[in-house]
Amino acid sequence: MYRGACETSSVFGMLLAMSASVKLNDGREMPQLGLGVWKTTDGNEVRAVRAALDAGYRHIDTAAIYGNEDGVGRAIAESGVDRESIWVTTKCWNADVRSGDVRAALHTSLKKLRLEYVDLYLVHWPVEGRVDAYREIEKLRREGLCRSIGVSNFMPEHVDELLAATEVVPAVNQVELHPYLQPADVLESCARHGIAIEGWSPLMQGAFKREPLFAKVGDKHGKSAAQVVIRWALQRGFITIPKSANPGRIQENGDVFDFEIGSDDMRAITALSRDQRFGPDPRNFSF
Ligand code: NAD
Repeated sequence: MYRGACETSSVFGMLLAMSASVKLNDGREMPQLGLGVWKTTDGNEVRAVRAALDAGYRHIDTAAIYGNEDGVGRAIAESGVDRESIWVTTKCWNADVRSGDVRAALHTSLKKLRLEYVDLYLVHWPVEGRVDAYREIEKLRREGLCRSIGVSNFMPEHVDELLAATEVVPAVNQVELHPYLQPADVLESCARHGIAIEGWSPLMQGAFKREPLFAKVGDKHGKSAAQVVIRWALQRGFITIPKSANPGRIQENGDVFDFEIGSDDMRAITALSRDQRFGPDPRNFSF
């Protein structure tokens, strides 16, 4: 069982709320549920972010490589929601990590997002140049251009390498994480170092629909299978960023704070773990 820094704010046995947050090792509070916007483009990201903010989400997860920072920024600006109350994460793409152009990359992201700072800036993948990139991100943090900093897809060996060579312990490690993939070594590494764990592809890129247990648990609570999968992640204490471009589903995915999965069902969902990835393996990828 993951017992990381973030479990304190989502103690099992409490209902949680849309405002549920995880206290990071830098003292900042990160909303536990956010909207993922990978592959949401061509204006759909504007509609999706607006729908999420209308539904009460206060956390958006984007990345330079998603090609939608401009639309995300437009939606935030047009929403009228106070900037300070929204958590925006973006990520430094591999080409900029490899070439050392991290500073320019963040400035470009900020310009597209129409923001003066991002809440969280991540090294997207553990490619060559990651340690130097992270050192530059430490500087950018001191300058106030990103308030929290972290990594994504870092395996324990990448985290250890980073900790040995840099000053600021990453606040977050964003990795693939869902009922079929609960990497014990990564969870243990994050817990040991006080790094909050954030799960990507929490809905298994849609494959949750093929697992009957989720709908079965949902029937007990009048909730959908998607809501059960998201709720499981929240009750496990993970930060979670389900993606949808559909306003109705965005609303549905945020409507997970009025029920609680019982301990037997929590255990049954956790027991689905089978090392099944839907995305690339951070120990073996080539992009
Ligand atoms: P996901 O696991 O969140 O699944 C999204 C898919 O589930 C949707 O496209 C849709 O088909 C389906 N879905 C969503 N809500 C539904 C509902 N209520 N009912 C029925 N079907 C529903 O997918 P994801 O986009 O891979 O992951 C979420 C986010 O994680 C991304 O958008 C991105 O922000 C982030 N991410 C990060 C990395 C990384 O390397 N750091 C990699 C992948 C994703």
